[in-house]
Amino acid sequence: MSLLLYNGKFYGTDDAEWILIRNGVIADIGKGALPDATRKINLDGMFVYPGFCDSHTHLSNIALMQSNLDLSRKTKDEIFEMIKNESRKKKIVIGRGWDESNWKDAKYITADEIDSVCADIPVVLVRECGHLATLNTAAMKKFGIVRENGLIFEDEVGYVLKNVERNLDIMAAIDYALSRGITAIHDFANTVIMRKYFELWRKNQLKIRVMLNFYRSGYHAVRKLGLVTGFGDEFFKIGGLKLFADGSIGAGTAATTYRDGKTVSPLMSLRQLRAYVTNANSRGIKVLTHAIGDLAIETVLRAYENTSGNRIEHFELATDEHIERIGESLVCMQPNFLKWAARGGLYEKMLGERWLPLNNAYRKILDAGHKLLFGSDGMPLSPLFGIHYAVNSPYEAQRISVDEALDAYTRGASHISSRLGKIKKGFLADLVVLDRDLKDRAHIIDAKVVYTIINGAILYSNISL
Ligand SMILES: [Zn+2]
Repeated sequence: MSLLLYNGKFYGTDDAEWILIRNGVIADIGKGALPDATRKINLDGMFVYPGFCDSHTHLSNIALMQSNLDLSRKTKDEIFEMIKNESRKKKIVIGRGWDESNWKDAKYITADEIDSVCADIPVVLVRECGHLATLNTAAMKKFGIVRENGLIFEDEVGYVLKNVERNLDIMAAIDYALSRGITAIHDFANTVIMRKYFELWRKNQLKIRVMLNFYRSGYHAVRKLGLVTGFGDEFFKIGGLKLFADGSIGAGTAATTYRDGKTVSPLMSLRQLRAYVTNANSRGIKVLTHAIGDLAIETVLRAYENTSGNRIEHFELATDEHIERIGESLVCMQPNFLKWAARGGLYEKMLGERWLPLNNAYRKILDAGHKLLFGSDGMPLSPLFGIHYAVNSPYEAQRISVDEALDAYTRGASHISSRLGKIKKGFLADLVVLDRDLKDRAHIIDAKVVYTIINGAILYSNISL
């Protein structure tokens, strides 16, 4: 089986006009006369790039969003209508975000009310606060809970949602990632989601390449089994331990000093963090620490001193002096976060003007000789959206070239296999075909993903073949 892509523009090649893919590998690249192939696709001048690697993502969140109804700011009647429609397509209906204070009767939804529109499949409706949910009779039966009005609180809500997570459709989220041109991901997972990935890998059903990082809840199991960072094959690799040094700017929990003078401290002390790093690294496990505020970044850089290959996630409020101290650590950032960093935006509101031209300093990091990894954090899951922000930023410390942004959004794949991340003879055929040249930086946001190809197989196409 061979596939010939011809009449295209192939990024990073010497003006190649076609590539020949055999057994998942780029077997040949050339110009002029076309070689024979089982299947030939005329690209009509379209643009081919190495497949995107989202180096920081949460597919379980995407799967949750796909499977949940958004009930915020909806009336009761609208909610009942949504349940009716959803119950025709689903085996269980989950809705989130209802708020009775918006309704005339200002009363919680009850099991009876839901039963009257949907009695045959389980329905779980979580209130906006997340501390309260209503189950219909079928859901109470499914989860072994009996309440006269169907209302459950606190831990019971957690118990039900954990069960729902077991039924999450990661495959649907993977398909969504493929539609965004993503061919590899570095995901973060709890043990429930890890199990799902292991199962897909074992059954040879993993369509996308995955580097799987795990939270503290999974650390015990990984350690016990003697798994190490990099264990796996060219489709699936064990990543590292994910830790949190702070929260987010939007929630006011990033460790920094805010506009109003309030200072938030990191979630972990230097001692705690260093203990994790030493423990994990001595077992061959790398650490990835979430650090957004300058105070969290300071703690992480100190904990990483004299180590190599550990990662700092986000690195948003890094000072020049921090950038100088990155050393052998890796930095993974989210260019799409610039959507909050514009003048008059969320970041300015929270942090004041000081950080406006200085946050997310991709340019400075590259100029200091470091490589960048880009990921979306799923907000939204779209490399093109992120690249758009990184190359069109009005601030010098942030703005990078299209080539640099593409490098940051593809190089994570090389952590999964050294034969990924480039269009090159002998490399694995993971490609994304776009209808536009990304050099046209003003229109990156309008580019459409036409094909996503992994290991030489077309796994997404927006045109019928
Ligand atoms: Zn994240």
